[in-house]
Amino acid sequence: MGGWIRALALGALFVCGFAHAAWAQEASQTQRAQAREIYQRVIAFNTSVEGAQTPAMADYLAGLFRGAGFAAEDVHVLPLNGTAGLVVRYRGNGSGGRPILLLAHMDVVPALRSDWERDPFTLVEENNFFFGRGTIDNKGGIVQLTSTFLALRAEGFVPTRDLIIWFSGDEETTGATTEALLAQHRDLLGNAEFALNSDAGGGQLDGNNRGIAYVVQTAEKTYASFTFTARNPGGHSSQPREDNAIYDLGDALARLRAFQFPVMWNDTTIESFRNTARVFPDRRRRTCDALLSIQATGCSADALAQRFAFFDDAHDLRRDNAEWRSRRERLAAKRRGDSELPYLPRGAGRGCADGAARDRRQQGYG
Ligand SMILES: [Zn+2]
Repeated sequence: MGGWIRALALGALFVCGFAHAAWAQEASQTQRAQAREIYQRVIAFNTSVEGAQTPAMADYLAGLFRGAGFAAEDVHVLPLNGTAGLVVRYRGNGSGGRPILLLAHMDVVPALRSDWERDPFTLVEENNFFFGRGTIDNKGGIVQLTSTFLALRAEGFVPTRDLIIWFSGDEETTGATTEALLAQHRDLLGNAEFALNSDAGGGQLDGNNRGIAYVVQTAEKTYASFTFTARNPGGHSSQPREDNAIYDLGDALARLRAFQFPVMWNDTTIESFRNTARVFPDRRRRTCDALLSIQATGCSADALAQRFAFFDDAHDLRRDNAEWRSRRERLAAKRRGDSELPYLPRGAGRGCADGAARDRRQQGYG
């Protein structure tokens, strides 16, 4: 999934206004070549459950860190149930406080060669795109963290606090390597202050390579598994019954398909929508779509006006756009009879819009 879409889906938070941030110097040709080489090597490890090459990949990476001068006691491969995790500690001078954890996962979900146009475990670069299982999720993160550690080490960089890598080996399945790390090797993590996960978020640059926005994941929506069991007395095929367990199960699945989860939001998603509308005017339309979905759930106009400080922009869009009008009418029809307004009246967000203008000024957006 594209970074932007994924960021929204995972409930990511925008941190904007760093257009004037200082940028690290460009990576050298040697560093780029090394990162590319590591990328190629790690894609070639089949780290799915069936491939079982996560321990081999952990050993390969551990070798790189040791070869770059990381002390043996700061590089730990932790095998577990046919997979493995890797901890690497980059020692700082301690002046900056408690350590920071940097996370990625080495395993991938399975990929069958027959389902793929290209070999999933061979890194292929075509038309400025990389192809291969895990190129983004999450071997891209593994390589960025690894090559950054190696490059900083080679430059003699000393962080102000310890930076600790944790590469898990089963994020896509049970997460047992992380559980074992916390239960048995917590000391390796120090008393870390916070963790940054390379598996979500990311930055956006403008045409001049200046930062526009950075997306940070604050939580992850995960899944729950349910088992459906249907029981029926059964019978004999010579005397078919009208009911049977298969049909009961089919009915249950059909009802499940018809079920719609309610639209939900939290402080992170609201902030993300607000800043999307603020920083990317061309995405206001999609942001308003999201807003309207939430509105359709019956949230009161006042509550929405307070939450969506960019509301006046949304309103202008809706006023000017025929599609918005027809959508609004469809929603109104759907909600006819409700006392709640199906959409916000013009001006309802006026006070909040003033607040938005103030926010924009404070963040350096005019
Ligand atoms: Zn992932």
